[in-house]
Amino acid sequence: MGISVECPGRRRTGAAPAPPATRSRIVVLLGPPGAGKGTQADKLAVALGIPKVATGDVLRAAVRDGTPLGLEAKSYMDRGALVPDPIILGIMKAALAAPGAARGAILDGVVRTVPQAEGLHSALSELGRTVDAVIVFEIPEAELVRRISGRVVCETCQTSYPESMAGSRCPKDGGRLVRRSDDEPAAVQHRFGVYQTQTAPVIAWYRAHGARVLPIDAVGTPDEIRDRLLHALAS
Ligand SMILES: [Zn+2]
Repeated sequence: MGISVECPGRRRTGAAPAPPATRSRIVVLLGPPGAGKGTQADKLAVALGIPKVATGDVLRAAVRDGTPLGLEAKSYMDRGALVPDPIILGIMKAALAAPGAARGAILDGVVRTVPQAEGLHSALSELGRTVDAVIVFEIPEAELVRRISGRVVCETCQTSYPESMAGSRCPKDGGRLVRRSDDEPAAVQHRFGVYQTQTAPVIAWYRAHGARVLPIDAVGTPDEIRDRLLHALAS
């Protein structure tokens, strides 16, 4: 799967030898918020024995560990500003260069725009690696609205529960269960529109750059979807 076949006549010129792309399993997950990417990233990480690399987690770890880039990121976060892409990319590159990610990684929430895809591509190239597959979570807007607006969230720990639990308390910490304004149907529809606008060019970019783009039906139970993902990756 995903092995590039070199044309026999093609030789390295030696002028600017690119490091050989190793047989990595860098898998990028693309999908609208609420499509289940985080859940599937965890399941894939277990099934494939490679780590999940999520932007938020990696950023928090760098800040906690006080790495130079982490400290730089913190200076933006302390001001309530967005951490610029180049800093996030540097932190991401360090995470992908770590021994734990030698055999690959599942990237969740790392690529949302074409500039981010390009940035990741150059960071990986410097490590002699490349994106192996891009999984696109396909979910109808109506299903997304049903799924997201049909839930309530604990004010304390942000865990989601079914809407039928509205008005009761979080079993974990007794926090109030509320429907967030972000989860109203109109807000979900808006995010879905933004996602589609941003993502179509990202998918086209990856197709043009030779990554395998694997659309996955993201409606089903978490285990059903995991099996579809593994099947698609193995094909
Ligand atoms: Zn809670």
